[in-house]
Amino acid sequence: MGVPLFDTSTPVAGLRAQFDAAIARVLDSGRYILGPEVSAFESEFASHCGARHAVGVANGTDAITIALRAMGVGPGDEVIVPSFTFYASAEAIPPTGATPVFCDVDPRTFCVTAETVRAALSPRTKAVLAVHLFGNLAPVAEIEALGVPVLEDAAQAAGSLGPDGRRPGALGSAATFSFFPSKNLACFGDGGIVTTDDERIAEAARTLRFHGSHDKVTYELLGYNSRLDELQAALLRVQLPHLDAWSDGRRAAARHYEQAGLGELVELPLATDGSRPAWHLYVVSHPQVERLEAALAAAGVGCKAYYRTPVHRQAPMRRWAEGVELPGTEQAARAHLAIPMSPVLTREQAEQVVSAARAAVVA
Ligand SMILES: *Cc1c(COP(=O)(O)O)cnc(C)c1O
Repeated sequence: MGVPLFDTSTPVAGLRAQFDAAIARVLDSGRYILGPEVSAFESEFASHCGARHAVGVANGTDAITIALRAMGVGPGDEVIVPSFTFYASAEAIPPTGATPVFCDVDPRTFCVTAETVRAALSPRTKAVLAVHLFGNLAPVAEIEALGVPVLEDAAQAAGSLGPDGRRPGALGSAATFSFFPSKNLACFGDGGIVTTDDERIAEAARTLRFHGSHDKVTYELLGYNSRLDELQAALLRVQLPHLDAWSDGRRAAARHYEQAGLGELVELPLATDGSRPAWHLYVVSHPQVERLEAALAAAGVGCKAYYRTPVHRQAPMRRWAEGVELPGTEQAARAHLAIPMSPVLTREQAEQVVSAARAAVVA
């Protein structure tokens, strides 16, 4: 029997009756857009993160564009973003009018560092999009100490824990999350949210998600039609109380790998200082990664190289990547491989993955 790359259905299997009740509640209410479920989820999610405000939007990509604009980013500005991330992190920047400036990552943590950000700073830098990749947490405080505001891209980091028990969503000026079905907290379709302590950023995001209007009569800005809908919010409210337990399950799965000796065979992902990641993906590195990939696949173990071609080398981004050299990114892109991870990955499954890896690496 193999081990799947992820398991999104087992964790929610016991919640079906609550999902059905939530759907019925929304259908019976006749309110489908920006009603009581979205408001309730926004306050529940904000308090989960320890942030004062949350603004539900249509997806995690819109969340980034909207949050950047709400932070005042616009034409002529630069936004620093890692190249080793999901494409959308960078793609969300040009619609604000600003230019993405690619920075490097530490290939052991897969995250940006204060040093890699410093190397990309210029007088036009308006913000840093610090991606908490794979659930690991970028060092937001160290980056802000450089004097530049941070937007956290926390799409992969719901449930992770930061320094002093603080959570992503409340570490920088603002943060964005995605509720795409594969994320740590997921809806049944597309969804996203912006969190912030800053009243003005929250108000601007609320205005931008509704066509640039706060009263639906006067239009102050060119905005978006980008809302989280009532059905998705109701389904997210059923799941939010379970997020911490699911995150503990992800951390337990990582311990199973460590205890089964995976670290003797491949490079394990290194949690950044003070963070306890709710690993969204568990990504290891190996110099002969193709051999590892082939052996795991042959043993029925799910695995995937998510970002073999980093974002700055994707065609639409090349115009912003001239002369850019990112050795940590190239190394991570070449050597990384995601192996099975979920809140319910068992010790036995981890041992099975490790035996398959041992056969590949030792052979
Ligand atoms: C998923 C993801 C996004 C985009 O979220 P969508 O909801 O798919 O638009 C942005 N950044 C990162 C790092 C992601 O993993």
